[in-house]
Amino acid sequence: MGSLADVRRTAGAGAREVDLCGGVVYPGLIDTHSHLSSYADCLDRVDCGLSRRSIAGVLEALRAKSATVGDEEWILGYGYDDTGLEDKRHLTRWDLDTVSRDKPIFVIHISVHFAYANTKALELLGITEDTRFAGGEVGLGEDGQPSGYLAEMAAMAAMSRLPAPSAEAIRSNLTRAIAHYNSQGFTTIMDGGIGLSGDAEQITRSYLELARADALNARVYLQFLPAIMSKLAPFGLYHFGSTHLTFGGLKFFIDGSIQGFTAALLEDYHSRPNHRGALLMPEEDIDAMVAAHHQAGIQVAIHANGDLAVETALRAFEKAVSAYGHKALHHMIVHAQTASDNQLERMKACGVIPSFFSRHIEVWGDRHVEIFLGPERTARLNPAGSSVRLGMPFTLHVDTPVLPVTALASMHAAVNRVSSGGVLLGPDQRICPLEALRAYTTYAALCCGGEHDRGRIAPGCFADFVVLSDNLERIPPENLRDVRVNMTFTGGRLVYHA
Ligand SMILES: [Zn+2]
Repeated sequence: MGSLADVRRTAGAGAREVDLCGGVVYPGLIDTHSHLSSYADCLDRVDCGLSRRSIAGVLEALRAKSATVGDEEWILGYGYDDTGLEDKRHLTRWDLDTVSRDKPIFVIHISVHFAYANTKALELLGITEDTRFAGGEVGLGEDGQPSGYLAEMAAMAAMSRLPAPSAEAIRSNLTRAIAHYNSQGFTTIMDGGIGLSGDAEQITRSYLELARADALNARVYLQFLPAIMSKLAPFGLYHFGSTHLTFGGLKFFIDGSIQGFTAALLEDYHSRPNHRGALLMPEEDIDAMVAAHHQAGIQVAIHANGDLAVETALRAFEKAVSAYGHKALHHMIVHAQTASDNQLERMKACGVIPSFFSRHIEVWGDRHVEIFLGPERTARLNPAGSSVRLGMPFTLHVDTPVLPVTALASMHAAVNRVSSGGVLLGPDQRICPLEALRAYTTYAALCCGGEHDRGRIAPGCFADFVVLSDNLERIPPENLRDVRVNMTFTGGRLVYHA
């Protein structure tokens, strides 16, 4: 750090000089919420997202995959977005049966809170019209038989029973996935919910093998679902690890997704009178989970989309702090999309950091106005502007594989708040580019215990850098998403070069 002469003197003879060709160096970016290992799994799956346009397009893509796999092999799809496709409905078992009746087919919704199975997959998963899941739903057709639609805990349970890829495939897909994050400027990635796909042990082992071989090109921070954390906690295996791999804290879900009508709201959904969604577990259980981990010194990240869920999570944190005192654990409320200013103020008071899904404004914003939340609630969705006014740390995320890996498009959405239909939604919740950058650097560092060693360019911090094509504070804010990542360095190692 310092003048060019200072830097040359410190580096000494023989140091290599790199011409950045007008690029600008920033601290390596920190992703505080996505699902790196689930995304790695997706690399071998069929993309069933909006690029397929219609159910016919989705089925065509699945059919193409079906032609390349053997009879026993599962065909897995991800990214299905019912309200965005032309047909505007969920998939059914009968749709999927037109692709194959002999091969199991399983498609995961873009929110990861729903899934669809064909007849063969239902059979292999052992799901019948009599199967029940607490906090979940097995959809039934008019004939009283499963329709193939699985919601919340039913979908999660089914996902945890899908066949696991080989250890070699997991390692190679993790490496490819990390390379994608590197290409977007990320040098630290928080994997938010190890245990979601049922292969927690293999995934954790694969991370450890890559770390031991010095083959991780990013620093990875793992957050474990309750079933896994309950095994690790007795060994003291949390907030522990190496420079490149950390066993972090706990992550759990207390509601679903707004665009699936399963987020727990305080008021009705805009287009569904008398429907507010519901919590996925009783408040007493949430309180007990938070209190036990807070007392033990384990960071807790709670997935809460709806304002009722945010309120419930917040009350649990407030009770834990009042019983056991403040601890610098930087608990998180992940998504916190509908948080009110009052709730944000109380998060600040008990040291909880909200992480906002800023691209919801862009990708689902028009649908939030029309279908899910109505104009008023949409105008303050993902309230980063309020967080800035309250002077509190917050972060941004895109929840990959829900949306493709990106920091710049995520910052762009928080700075501009323009929907894909071109509508400005909630101008007073816009933030400046510098605050958006903090959300991916200094503020984000707090969430992974990295406030002393990353998120800044300073003596004593890791040599984690990203070289961007432009100065984020000097370009017009509406061009933010066009900024290119030229190079990424993790610990001084060049891990991406455009
Ligand atoms: Zn997530």
